[in-house]
Amino acid sequence: MGNAYQETMQLLKKYKITANKNLGQNFLICDETIQKIIEEADLSKNDMVIEIGPGLGILTQHLVEKAGKVLAVEIDQRMTSILNDRFQEQSNLEILQEDILKVDLKKKIEENHFKTVKVVANLPYYITTPIIMKLLEDKLELENILVMVQKEVADRLTAIPGEKATGAITYAIYYYSIAKKVISVPRESFIPAPDVTSEVIKLNLRKEPPIKLKNEDILFRLIKTAFMQRRKTISNSFMNSGLWREKQELLKTLEKVKISPNERAENLTLEQFASIINTIENEKN
Ligand code: SAM
Repeated sequence: MGNAYQETMQLLKKYKITANKNLGQNFLICDETIQKIIEEADLSKNDMVIEIGPGLGILTQHLVEKAGKVLAVEIDQRMTSILNDRFQEQSNLEILQEDILKVDLKKKIEENHFKTVKVVANLPYYITTPIIMKLLEDKLELENILVMVQKEVADRLTAIPGEKATGAITYAIYYYSIAKKVISVPRESFIPAPDVTSEVIKLNLRKEPPIKLKNEDILFRLIKTAFMQRRKTISNSFMNSGLWREKQELLKTLEKVKISPNERAENLTLEQFASIINTIENEKN
């Protein structure tokens, strides 16, 4: 076992703490994976990094070396006091003890005036989706998001909408970014070992969305509703979105865009969802 393992064990012993499973605390102890993450992050002193859940700070120490500034947001007070102790001298590290879902990241980014902002994190798995959705929906000026997630979630996030392994979130990820898998990480690379295999993925934020859309909010409303009943045909599942008053109206829209009412949501591409939304919006005018 390498440095990260030894350091983690020493820190846990020194500060007499154990991992809190409820907070998704699985510490990464694989030097090779850490190296790969740092390489892929491709940091320079022009970059500000937002690290979510720094934990004991093993990854953090590499980030502060390469980046201009690291904002490390950690909910567990035990961890932030360790970090404050370990990194007292580190002038380019800001440690924030808060729930990442409640932090005004836009404000934090504006305060810091960096050319590029990147997110790097070994995420707490119990809130992977809300964190990623917050990063995307808050429309932050991010270059990319490099995160460790469960393998199953990685499959869904990097899928092409309408193909295998699609979920409602697949459409949002595809709309906002170009996603790729970076490295698969086995359970033994963590202490304690999680129940699942993990994967590092990278989302490169798009400058422009891949489709022209008249109303973003209702697109995602329709997608979310349809995926809540993904086994049903769209002629049924779409009705719960509240976008059509009667089935007849829905069938008319589907006929216009040449999509069969017997399709299931998971077989539709983002372009097809967009054509449905644009048709409804055109009819309003
Ligand atoms: N970065 C460390 C590493 O790679 O070993 C720890 C990663 S661990 C998977 C996830 C971290 O996220 C934990 O330190 C946990 O306390 C923190 N965390 C959990 N929920 C959080 C939240 N809502 N906001 C910020 N941090 C959170």
